[in-house]
Amino acid sequence: MATDLVGLTLDELEIMAAGLGEPRYRGRQLARWIYRHRAEAVTAMTDLPEALRARLADVASLSRLRVLARADAPDGYTTKFLLGLHDGRTIETVLMRYDDGRRTVCISTQVGCGMGCTFCATGLAGLERNLSPGEIVDQVLLVSHETNERPTHVVFMGMGEPLANYDATLRAVRLLNASYGAGIGMRNVTISTVGLVPQMRRLSQERLQLTLAVSLHAPDDELRSELVPVNRRWPVADLLAAARDYAAVTGRRVTLEYVLMAGVNDRDEHARRLAMLAGGGSLHLNVIPWNPVYGLQYRRPSVPAVQRFAALVRAGGVAVTVRVERGVDIDAACGQLRRTHAGRVRA
Ligand code: SAH
Ligand code: SF4
Repeated sequence: MATDLVGLTLDELEIMAAGLGEPRYRGRQLARWIYRHRAEAVTAMTDLPEALRARLADVASLSRLRVLARADAPDGYTTKFLLGLHDGRTIETVLMRYDDGRRTVCISTQVGCGMGCTFCATGLAGLERNLSPGEIVDQVLLVSHETNERPTHVVFMGMGEPLANYDATLRAVRLLNASYGAGIGMRNVTISTVGLVPQMRRLSQERLQLTLAVSLHAPDDELRSELVPVNRRWPVADLLAAARDYAAVTGRRVTLEYVLMAGVNDRDEHARRLAMLAGGGSLHLNVIPWNPVYGLQYRRPSVPAVQRFAALVRAGGVAVTVRVERGVDIDAACGQLRRTHAGRVRA
């Protein structure tokens, strides 16, 4: 089977060039075509000798994502892409623009997700498959290419659980960070996890300066096990211990994500318990009003309810931010463009 060039590191490309009897610097040329120019075929790499292109075409390929649909929010802040993979499956990727010039790409790591969180559109359908490193990285390259804007930040908050596809995610992180890759500063990369404790501990040993976000969503095991089934395996106390250890080992503050659902996890008593759990300085809380998902019965809390909840946790001594909404009007919430699209296809 042909090797997919998208997803290879500079080192690997240099070794590949050497293996084909070429000087090592050909590896750097290849990297430029793969990551800078987003070449679709080896034949397009015009500064490589023709004989090398012919040999490469035999042993290597470039798997690129295809734009199946694009939705631009009327306010111009959000652009969402539905992307096709080589096997006909689809994923989604979102570009979020901020007034301070930040350009954040929200990327997927799996087709679907096997974690089954009850409030999440992606969780409804189950896991179809993992994405390859190339498919993860190409989301950022494609967005840059399609919009002519340079991404400054990447968040692993699209479809799938990044730490359940650990090796591909880590390779993608390194390629996104590399100067020959997407050149995204490591501190501008955020991995969001549902709370796979062993993988969080493993990640802390990688000594990367990336940001870890942990999806908490409830301050006690009873409620969290209902919303986030993996809590039965790694309960709240273990998860918070792992989050604190991560912060201690890496020196990076960890974000706790808390999706707020009216009448479910937004009571004053939840806020107080959360403040007790999250205190101590190494954790920071991000409150996110639930985005409606077609077919799910949860309710989005009112703006004052969100503010009240945030204020109560803050009063308990925890740093709290409320996530600025982006793209609700174009279904930019986790998993939704894909569902809307699938619905249209069936209709
Ligand atoms: N699987 C990882 C990363 C992808 S989900 C995780 O769960 O952390 C990214 C974030 O979006 C998670 O915090 C998740 O709980 C949240 N999320 C999922 N569905 C949502 C919805 N309908 N509204 C708001 N946030 C949602
Ligand atoms: Fe998967 Fe994250 Fe959705 Fe849970 S919230 S089902 S882990 S994508």
